[in-house]
Amino acid sequence: MSTIPVMIPWLGEEEAEAAAEAVRSGWVAQGPRVAAFERAFAEHLGVPHAVAVSSCTTALHLALLGAGVGPGDEVVVPSLSFIATANAVTYVGATPVFADVDPATGNLTPDTIAPLLTDRTRAVIAVDQGGVPVDLDAVRELAAPRGIAVVEDAACAAGSAYRGRPAGAGADIAAFSFHPRKLLTTGEGGMVTCQDGELAARLRRLREHGMSVSAADRHAGAGGAAVLETYDEIGFNHRMTDVQAAIGLVQLGKLPAMVARRRELAARYRELLGEELAGRLVAEPAYGTSNFQSLWLLLPEDAPERGEVLGSLAADGVSARRGIMAAHLEAPYKGAVRVPLPATELITSRTVILPLFHSLTEEQQERVAGALKSALTPKARSRAPHSL
Ligand SMILES: *Cc1c(COP(=O)(O)O)cnc(C)c1O
Repeated sequence: MSTIPVMIPWLGEEEAEAAAEAVRSGWVAQGPRVAAFERAFAEHLGVPHAVAVSSCTTALHLALLGAGVGPGDEVVVPSLSFIATANAVTYVGATPVFADVDPATGNLTPDTIAPLLTDRTRAVIAVDQGGVPVDLDAVRELAAPRGIAVVEDAACAAGSAYRGRPAGAGADIAAFSFHPRKLLTTGEGGMVTCQDGELAARLRRLREHGMSVSAADRHAGAGGAAVLETYDEIGFNHRMTDVQAAIGLVQLGKLPAMVARRRELAARYRELLGEELAGRLVAEPAYGTSNFQSLWLLLPEDAPERGEVLGSLAADGVSARRGIMAAHLEAPYKGAVRVPLPATELITSRTVILPLFHSLTEEQQERVAGALKSALTPKARSRAPHSL
């Protein structure tokens, strides 16, 4: 019996061919394919600017710099997120302030943010956790009158929708991830999207050592050798390569099919698990749709410890995962909480993430559902132990 993994990226010959073509062209660093991927991604989202970078972590780093966040500032973030969300705040010398989340969606709300606002609050990072869109307009209504920037961490949300538009499209600044754990992948990679042209130009400089003219433009431009670049502020090497962008262009074309497949699989899990368990899956809010990058289930109160549930699933050949991590429980941020975070602690300790990927078969899904039901009823299991 083969083990069912929690996630497999959907990659094929087309991506392999596109990557090979980039290599054969001799241009492998940031160049024409990165520019084309940026244009295609901006068009897909319906935003004026997209700046490709090396990861969502570096995208968040640049987004915070772009929002003017620096030492002494506070940034409200959900603790319930991959730790990169909080780390990006630390990179710019600011302090992450952890807010609780809505227990149904796993996302920040105005009610969880409001008690944490101080006169030092410079920004909020609103995460679309697991692909579930955050209620961005509600967060902005709270933040905007106070001059607080809102950065959308849309790492998980390519293909999700918020009020009829792609998630991230309405944000002043949004950051995306193309890590293989997400839907659309370039191996490693990220994108910052924004509405403002001057901001986009600064982000382009910051990702490339602060250079006033990009290396690609100097190479491509006629008489380019005559253009001398300047370095007007300290930048970074946060560039994406043309090999990654070539893969990204193919993946972007597949995104609608990826989302449709995941939504179909998520709906089927609901059927297989039955009404009661299905009601414990992460909720889809009325104002948007999820790409179901992560489908998590809150264990019933009478279920065994989560470690035991994951152990039973593993014994049945199902590789589920612990729920989303909570940054405030990890060493760098331990004790750095200003308010209790009950929903965060419940979700992080009592949820499991179910296998969900494009090529998941009906038979595999039935095995997952069966293994989960039996893992939740330990007495039945001990009377009829799994035979190998
Ligand atoms: C995955 C993830 C990140 C980090 O993305 P990378 O591309 O791996 O740097 C940041 N925030 C959230 C919410 C994520 O899920």
